[in-house]
Amino acid sequence: MDTPIASRALATEAVHAGRDDLARQGLHAPPIDLSTTYPSYDSRGEAARIDAFAATGAEPDGAPVYARLGNPTVARFETALARLEGTEAAVAFASGMAALSAVLLVRGSMGLRHVVAVRPLYGCSDHLLTAGLLGSEVTWTDPAGIADALRPDTGLVMVESPANPTLAELDLRAVAHACGSVPLLADNTFATPVLQRPAEQGARLVLHSATKYLGGHG
Ligand SMILES: *Cc1c(COP(=O)(O)O)cnc(C)c1O
Repeated sequence: MDTPIASRALATEAVHAGRDDLARQGLHAPPIDLSTTYPSYDSRGEAARIDAFAATGAEPDGAPVYARLGNPTVARFETALARLEGTEAAVAFASGMAALSAVLLVRGSMGLRHVVAVRPLYGCSDHLLTAGLLGSEVTWTDPAGIADALRPDTGLVMVESPANPTLAELDLRAVAHACGSVPLLADNTFATPVLQRPAEQGARLVLHSATKYLGGHG
């Protein structure tokens, strides 16, 4: 990947982020990589590359190893989204609900299964938290009640602004402040990074459903 150019305007990033390698390859449109596995001509060397990838998580040099671990098309999307949101990194999942599930599972596996959340949230997010399907326990509150709702086992504060479907808005900076050291997850689906970048307001996690505004859908 090329060195990020910190000073690029958002409009420029929206066109070029994640596509820095294309010109070098003589391409304008990002190719869609459909491979699930990749050819290997040296099985010992390839095994070493997979071991190093598994140990460090760092993308290996050369051809991709295995699409479940890394796919060039998905990597471009992740790079673009991280640059647009101004976050350290981005991770793409097959759906927005898969992304939220991963967050809840990771926090729960750290013993931090309590979630503080503000309604309204997208209906399925609300249902996933309320049902406790992934082992989480939710306390619903309003923004003013966040600080009091935090417990030692609170692993996440979750909000959505503008909310689906009411378009209710929150002061994300004030909410992030109320969270203290607990990570704030802001669902930014209805704004996109063009209109709002929650990480700049103090959110530590930003979630998107790419089936909506981000993907150009209604
Ligand atoms: C649709 C939606 C989701 C869920 O995303 P999927 O990609 O459909 O799983 C999450 N949050 C918001 C705000 C949504 O509108």
